[in-house]
Amino acid sequence: MSDHIMITTGSSFEGYSIVEYYGFIASQDILGTNFIKNITASVADVSEQDKANLDKCKDDAEKNLIKLAKKKKANAIIGMKMEYVLFSSSSFGVIATGTAVRIEKKASESDIVKKELVVKNYYTRLVPRPVKVVLDGTKKDIDISVWFYNYNMDDILSVRVNIEFRNLFEEKLIIKDIDVAFDKGNVSLIKSIPLHCELTYADMLVLKDARVIVNKYATPRGVFACNDTPVDIQMSTHRLENLKKSRGIDAVEKYRTDGMIWTCNCGHVNEAGSEECIICGRKQEELKSSSNFNYEEMIDKMKEKEYVNEIKDVLMENIQQIDSKYRMELLEIMESGLHYEKTRGNMKDTVIEKVEKVFENAN
Ligand SMILES: [Zn+2]
Repeated sequence: MSDHIMITTGSSFEGYSIVEYYGFIASQDILGTNFIKNITASVADVSEQDKANLDKCKDDAEKNLIKLAKKKKANAIIGMKMEYVLFSSSSFGVIATGTAVRIEKKASESDIVKKELVVKNYYTRLVPRPVKVVLDGTKKDIDISVWFYNYNMDDILSVRVNIEFRNLFEEKLIIKDIDVAFDKGNVSLIKSIPLHCELTYADMLVLKDARVIVNKYATPRGVFACNDTPVDIQMSTHRLENLKKSRGIDAVEKYRTDGMIWTCNCGHVNEAGSEECIICGRKQEELKSSSNFNYEEMIDKMKEKEYVNEIKDVLMENIQQIDSKYRMELLEIMESGLHYEKTRGNMKDTVIEKVEKVFENAN
């Protein structure tokens, strides 16, 4: 489109948006005085030869207008008008006018892409904690934004991070020392202003999750280094996403206790005596009461087994703890698994997948 100029008499182009206005432009082309000798009443009365001259005159006026638009780096002209003018010197001419603009093709619905990646690491200190990486834009142009959980509600101006993406093939793609900035830093969840990134659409399609390493961050009080070693989250991406859905976007660990200490959803390990987590303020009592049946542990045990009859044994060991409204469905899964295993071979994966779905839908 760099060399081609689009022209309309209207004020816009279907499927394009006007991204810049360069102003009004006008050009004129004058025909010799001989031309009008025969014209009496109107332009409509002109002869064939005169018509040809007139067309050339209009053409030249338009060509000049295009030249002017290109000079302004425009790629389109809107509101184009041609007017016949009788100049004072009694010569006749054409004036072409319009507005030079720059247009861009609108992203169609199918070009818009978005992906949210969960961050697979966290920090134990009070630094802005990365929780999510959002990729957003079109197939040709992808922006990146990093979300942080800001427990202190510090006024965070910018964070310098390394981002390590991981794809479905367990390969890493690393962006180093990218500075993300914020419009509003003094709230709990801070989302960085989207920046253009070099990831391609093809890269984006296969990305699975990310690690975000905080190098330093700036507040109005100064620059703070982050020498903390990030902790890698061990649970699967899928489970981490589920945990965040039920326990909040900053959740990185399941609540657990051994009587001496307790681990909060935010990952902080608190003394048994402290009622509230000193990082996030979650209350231990609430975490205890809401930590219902640990189906993930049961599923891990099921995965160690080989056949459906063994998997069913694991279910039966736990059945008392499972909410009664799911029991029937789970037993039916086992029965149909046992049934098909006789004729179709091992049903382990299918059965476990169905059990997982029952609990996930319940969350
Ligand atoms: Zn906490």
